[in-house]
Amino acid sequence: MTTVHDSAVTAVTDDLTVWPATTIETRSGDTAVGGVPLAELADRFGTPVYVLDEAEVRDRCRTYRDAFPDAEVLYAAKAFLCRAMIHWMDQEGLGLDVCSAGELELAVTAGFPADRIVLHGNAKSPRDLETALRLGVGRIVIDSPAEIARLAAAVGPRGHQEVMVRVVPGISAGGHEKIRTGTEDQKFGLSISDGYAQHAIARILDQPQLRLTGLHCHLGSQITSVKPYVAAVRRMVGLMSRLRDQYGLVLPELDLGGGHGIAYRPVERSLDLTALARKIRAELGAACAAAGLPVPRLIIEPGRAIAGPAGIALYRVLAVKRTGLRTYVAVDGGMSDNPRPALYGVRYAPRLVGRRTTDDRTRVTVVGRHCEAGDVLAADVELPADVRPGDLLAVPVAGAYHLSMASGYNLVGRPPVVAVRDGRARLLVRRESLDDIRSRDVGV
Ligand SMILES: *Cc1c(COP(=O)(O)O)cnc(C)c1O
Repeated sequence: MTTVHDSAVTAVTDDLTVWPATTIETRSGDTAVGGVPLAELADRFGTPVYVLDEAEVRDRCRTYRDAFPDAEVLYAAKAFLCRAMIHWMDQEGLGLDVCSAGELELAVTAGFPADRIVLHGNAKSPRDLETALRLGVGRIVIDSPAEIARLAAAVGPRGHQEVMVRVVPGISAGGHEKIRTGTEDQKFGLSISDGYAQHAIARILDQPQLRLTGLHCHLGSQITSVKPYVAAVRRMVGLMSRLRDQYGLVLPELDLGGGHGIAYRPVERSLDLTALARKIRAELGAACAAAGLPVPRLIIEPGRAIAGPAGIALYRVLAVKRTGLRTYVAVDGGMSDNPRPALYGVRYAPRLVGRRTTDDRTRVTVVGRHCEAGDVLAADVELPADVRPGDLLAVPVAGAYHLSMASGYNLVGRPPVVAVRDGRARLLVRRESLDDIRSRDVGV
């Protein structure tokens, strides 16, 4: 974080708390990340552009490794994946959690060891399973009864595959209804309470080519309290203990999924990873001791908390319009590169970058360029009153679930991704061009 010397600047830099640690305010009033001023990136790569701070990604990986030294940490690829991310995860000693043949194949062809990859999915296609077996994926997480026989048949009588079972612990947690996956009434997993989980486990044990290594649960996403995780440990160990009693089965692994919440705005708080690690370890130790079980090896799967705070979306202001009630600031991206506000009603704290501004702030609504009234990036936020077309707006905490959920809406084309590190910028993913779009359009 930058050190600031005069109070007028302090007021503005306060909102850098959710930015990458390398963020500073430059002498000319620009904001620099990874040693590169954002206006320079906009000039060089055009806008909109997504900026990824490599040091921030790596720091976050190390924070996990330090907080959970005995656990296996898998990065949830769906948050954001490209070959550079895959290399960074490999170098930082993380595994990967994927949920499609595409994510899996990109990772393995980029050199990521397949045995450190776990395949998820509530509806795995034949191609997903075929790819997983062909590439030798480490574990497959079974999510439905039908998958058991299908997978056993695909593995073949002489084959061998390690699997886990996704269990619904019956715990409600997560930042929005659409991302709560630990409760009964949603599509993921097999429930403990209605016995489907136990039933699926019995069927897996009947398949000699499938080796059950552990139970898996994923409560949801954007969870900011440790309590639901502690409750999940208790329920999962409860099931492990019943499995031991019933089948003499002692499972060596327990996967608690991801969902660790982060702050998108300075007023929000993130999940405390040190407290999470401490409380999970304590609960796991106590519950296993009470049940007379050995402590299983813990697996966790953070996605958002690794990629989210390392990314910045950089837009150019195209129009500023005052209506009776509001001032609209329209930028050159929107719901096609970031569908999260429309999907979950999330809020962001955009920042004017690239030039010095007056300290007068005014309430505006930042909107995208797409043909929907719901294409709102940030409603009712404070920006300098002199915001005008040509300005640059940066949205921090844009590294997860933006580009991985990007769409082709309005044929705008998906933005490029640029990595910054030690004062240098390099293109990781190029902008989607009209030629890209045209080349898929093969019929008349
Ligand atoms: C989405 C998902 C994750 C990662 O969730 P985050 O909120 O990004 O940490 C981990 N595991 C599974 C099974 C998931 O579906």
